[in-house]
Amino acid sequence: MRNILLIEPNYKNKYPPIGLMKISTYHKRLGDNVTFYKGDMKEFVIDQIYQDCLRKLKRVDKSIHWQSKSALIKKYIKRKNSSLLEEMNFSNSEFAPLIEKNLVGFADYYRKKEFEKNPKFDRVYVTTLFTFYWKITIETIQFAKKLVKKPDQLLIGGVLASLLSKEVEKETGIIPIAGLLDKPGMLDKSAKARKIIIDNLPLDYSILDEIDYDYPTGSAYFTFMTKGCTRKCAFCSVPKIEPTYKPKIETIDKFNEIKTLFGEQQNLLLMDNNVLASPNFQEIIQEIKDMGFVTGATYTEPNQLSIAIRNLRGGYNNKGYVKRSYKLMHSLLDRLKDATKQEYYDTLDKFELIKFETTTKENLLNAYKFISPYYEKYRLKTPKLRYVDFNQGTDARYVTDELMKLMSEVPIKPLRIAFDYIGLKDTYIKAVELAAKYGIKELSNYILYNFYDSPEELYERLKINVELGERLGIHIYSFPMKYIPLYGEEAKSREFIGEKWNKKFIRAIQSILNVTKGIVAPGRSFFEKAFGKNINEFYHLLFMPETYIVYRKVFEEEVKLTPVWRKQFVDLMNSSESELVKKIIVSNDFKEYYNFTNNLQILALLKHYTVKKEEANNTDSEYQDLKKRFAKLIKENRHHNLTLTYDFESLTVRKNYSDVIYSQ
Ligand code: SF4
Repeated sequence: MRNILLIEPNYKNKYPPIGLMKISTYHKRLGDNVTFYKGDMKEFVIDQIYQDCLRKLKRVDKSIHWQSKSALIKKYIKRKNSSLLEEMNFSNSEFAPLIEKNLVGFADYYRKKEFEKNPKFDRVYVTTLFTFYWKITIETIQFAKKLVKKPDQLLIGGVLASLLSKEVEKETGIIPIAGLLDKPGMLDKSAKARKIIIDNLPLDYSILDEIDYDYPTGSAYFTFMTKGCTRKCAFCSVPKIEPTYKPKIETIDKFNEIKTLFGEQQNLLLMDNNVLASPNFQEIIQEIKDMGFVTGATYTEPNQLSIAIRNLRGGYNNKGYVKRSYKLMHSLLDRLKDATKQEYYDTLDKFELIKFETTTKENLLNAYKFISPYYEKYRLKTPKLRYVDFNQGTDARYVTDELMKLMSEVPIKPLRIAFDYIGLKDTYIKAVELAAKYGIKELSNYILYNFYDSPEELYERLKINVELGERLGIHIYSFPMKYIPLYGEEAKSREFIGEKWNKKFIRAIQSILNVTKGIVAPGRSFFEKAFGKNINEFYHLLFMPETYIVYRKVFEEEVKLTPVWRKQFVDLMNSSESELVKKIIVSNDFKEYYNFTNNLQILALLKHYTVKKEEANNTDSEYQDLKKRFAKLIKENRHHNLTLTYDFESLTVRKNYSDVIYSQ
């Protein structure tokens, strides 16, 4: 039995690592022991050392409840602060000196990086995703080297690794596995492994319970009915990663396996890149219906605790199911009241299940027979509507009346139709009209910008969506998505600026969307307020100081700086200085604006760009209201949350990446 570690770097992402979930199934079928981790790598190592330390301490003095001191022990391993030893309160033990010696030893083991000389894992996989997560991905790979016994057993795969394989090799010395694991025996040569195609395996959902990170997908099946794409769009990674189009992937058996092992899921998230290109589309829709996704279908959550306990008993994934069972038992507490709540709490207490540190497999199994009647009686049983989401979007160029009719026979929500460039206008409009004809009322579309397009073309596409929504009585949510190159240095960050764009305009779009986290909601009034009533107003917004864009109302109506800026801007645009002014503004660098010119009129205009948001932050009620409204919308509508682009991640999260990883 090999010890396998699967790592997803600690970036923020929406969908679970499907590749690793398949690799987990693969290794479990080969009889290996699998661990999944996403988080601070340093904490992972500390936790591993803690487990060894705990075993040792239990052997030294059984009478002490060491698990209840887990936080202190981990802290001590990390910091070796002697006051923590006192807090652990073991001085009355007859083995106190030996206990202390062990604790000191484990702390030194960590602090002197002894663990690097004694790696535990026979094989480590690191998955990768967006190229702009380059830094954190490379840091994770470098750290993973310390955890694997033999360097050639560190395997790197996924999107970034496929697109930037040369760069990854140069930086880490490891040749990544580019593309899919879609042939038998790609990772091992044993007879059993040679019969398995990893890409065709069902996903191991249980690994997601091993980590603290919460993917916002909720209860859903993730699957592909097709693979690859028939096209080769220059801005897309699919032709490189999945170069062969497979028009139909067998799904139903995997689906049934997942249902049996992990329980029925509510929604169906199809990750197909271009499902409409499939000549088997009718068959695909039939299969979706056979899975139980017909219009109006509802889902009643199965008894998750009984599934978790069953799998825990079977030893399928002890770490994952201990955590899951604990969480499920505690989630019921919120649904109970008064005496029942007290009785239930007392039962948890009796089996030491109040705190996670003291929760063990044994306690959970022992408690289950007392907990299960409460759980079955009070768990949520309200039926919910089921949805199907082709979350990578559908290709308007393949849409026909017949295909749209077929799509409308399953509960698609939202329908995503790609509108990547203005040249698709007529085809796109026709596809949306067909969606409306067949009663599909909620659409949610990515609008690629910063590629070959111009700002006017972005405005026009957004406006088309507003007009279509009005004319057809449907809701189209647009999600402008900034293009980032797939290859080379520019792929490694989010700084790329398209030929017809500039830093200021990109920042302006982000400032316009800042409050809605990237969503352009349906409705003319929202759109016109956010992007302007016409191209001329839109251009004014693009040139407007960021602070005035974000806190629109307060600077327009209360502080009244925007009208002053507007007049100065328009006057200068009508003067012989207009080109110089534009050049300065689009550079988006106003730190030393007073050095750019001696022209007092221009200097007066540029001063607006140095106004800080603090002057308005908490006073713009419109900004605050809108922010709250959209936060609520995103919280209540999982589909919006899943569609949000990564341009609006909170800065704190991004900043923390560097701390998150290896602040040793
Ligand atoms: S049609 Fe879509 S999936 Fe296919 S290459 Fe173009 S963008 Fe990529």
